[in-house]
Amino acid sequence: MRDITDFNRVRLGQLPTPLYKLNNLSRELNKNIYIKRDDMTGVSLGGNKVRKLEFLLADAIAQGCDTVITTGGAQSNHAMLTAACCNMLGLSAVLVLKGRGVMEKKGNLVLDDLLGAPVQMVDSDDYADVYAQMDDVAKQLKAQGRKPYIVPVGGSTPLGALGYVECVREIAEQTKAMGVELDHIICCTGSGGTQAGLALGAALYTKARVTGIAVSDDDFEAIVEGLCMQTARILETDARAAVHVEYCFGEGYAIPSNEGCAAIRYMAKTEGLIFDPVYTGKAFAGLLELNRNGRFDGEKNILMLHSGGAGGVFAIDVR
Ligand SMILES: *Cc1c(COP(=O)(O)O)cnc(C)c1O
Repeated sequence: MRDITDFNRVRLGQLPTPLYKLNNLSRELNKNIYIKRDDMTGVSLGGNKVRKLEFLLADAIAQGCDTVITTGGAQSNHAMLTAACCNMLGLSAVLVLKGRGVMEKKGNLVLDDLLGAPVQMVDSDDYADVYAQMDDVAKQLKAQGRKPYIVPVGGSTPLGALGYVECVREIAEQTKAMGVELDHIICCTGSGGTQAGLALGAALYTKARVTGIAVSDDDFEAIVEGLCMQTARILETDARAAVHVEYCFGEGYAIPSNEGCAAIRYMAKTEGLIFDPVYTGKAFAGLLELNRNGRFDGEKNILMLHSGGAGGVFAIDVR
């Protein structure tokens, strides 16, 4: 297996992020529930994309690129964090967003503006149109003598997933120091890179099972499986990741669900932690449902990844 130091990486996050037990919730659910605070990665309002961007933007720099083009929904946390991380590194960012959802200047669109990243909205339901527009932007930039680097939606490539392989190494060190052996890690799955990295990392460094709670109806078993294989290939490891996905998205991507909203209020009330309506609230609703359905029977120590999403709270109404 290749050593992680064989890959280009820039330091962006304030790592390690905190990992600790949620005492009130643990008492209520009769399980030990731990949280990994990747909402505290330390760039802008924090979030999981920072770990991926450490590898992706290092690759951009290694290739001599000066401008990063990326995409997501109108309220994309990933696009916002890409702009923030680019600013730290002196790179330019162009955000080509899918013009769906909350497009007023709220939430992450406020942050995109503060960060100074130009935003283009593509009026389409299909990411193929968005990628075509990104290619156009890249061509225009090249004609101006710039060197563009395209980061796909969510930064979910094998290089991006390495950030979450490394996160499991971090989790394994933290839990070992606490004398805790994790049985299960729950994360939120939106483009798949986080779950793929966690699943491969778990196969390498822990005995924990990883379950991703999907926030749209994409075929995440296939997407995450594919990313796990590609990531294992660049790491040159035979480790086989197990991919478990549960779908808990309500009506659709970025549409608040009753269960998600109730879960946000429950977490805020019991632990004073803020989840968001697009990702982490739905993931926590999924965790609660799995627990209710006895899916953690025989398991004691459950970790939930808090992947961020703060901007969404200020754009999308939580009922
Ligand atoms: C992007 C994102 C996710 C999902 O991570 P993927 O790697 O895209 O599956 C989860 N939570 C938040 C807050 C995000 O911004």
